[in-house]
Amino acid sequence: MCDRKSIVTIDGPSGGGKSTVSRALAARLGFTYLDTGAMYRAVAYTCQQQGVDPLNPVQLEPLLASIRIELLPPAAGEDDVRVIVNGRDVGSSLRTPEMGMLASKVSAQPLVRNILTVLQQQIGAAGQIVAEGRDTGTVVFPEAAWKFFLDASPEVRTRRRAAQLRSKGEAVDEQQLLAQIVQRDKDDRERTIAPLKAAPDAILIDSTVCPVDVVIGQMYDRVMTTPCSCKK
Ligand code: C5P
Repeated sequence: MCDRKSIVTIDGPSGGGKSTVSRALAARLGFTYLDTGAMYRAVAYTCQQQGVDPLNPVQLEPLLASIRIELLPPAAGEDDVRVIVNGRDVGSSLRTPEMGMLASKVSAQPLVRNILTVLQQQIGAAGQIVAEGRDTGTVVFPEAAWKFFLDASPEVRTRRRAAQLRSKGEAVDEQQLLAQIVQRDKDDRERTIAPLKAAPDAILIDSTVCPVDVVIGQMYDRVMTTPCSCKK
């Protein structure tokens, strides 16, 4: 492996299995896992808590100037990273479909993207990272050595997300969830700033009929066997 820029990026639409795959791949490689979506959710949550309209820069700017977001490894027995916002663990409040929709709205704001992109780049500066999101291969870490774009059909993504939510004890209306997923992906793909798309040098993986373990294995093999493609 290349020691200089050992960054793996995994982008794709919601519910494609990015989180599961990214966490497992990071653990297998001994890299740090960076959940960029959690950061957008953290900003969305804070807007909601403070009654800030994310479309109003006059309200948004002071919030962004003072917000402190820390990502910590999951608590024992948990999967999701712990998200500390302004000193408070806001964890499970971030993982609802509604917070996903609000995060998508917030993430289309250049003010938000500028701040979070820099933060993500600082976290990744030392390398040895697996970053997951929508623009990690295109905008945040264009120099990453290994880039993947993970997709699956909307129906399969909905079923997986529904199972995830149910495992946390939440009631799920699958029709409504499917509509939310389709809408969120459309918004993420069509926004003008850092839209959801595969980097030209990303490897596309469709996990519709491919078990998660196989996807992780494919990515791991790729990282271990391909020479680093980062710019010298
Ligand atoms: O990945 P997750 O579902 O937690 O992301 C929530 C939302 O945050 C996405 O729908 C997207 O709008 C936004 N996001 C983004 N860029 C990233 C990661 C997430 O715009 N790198």
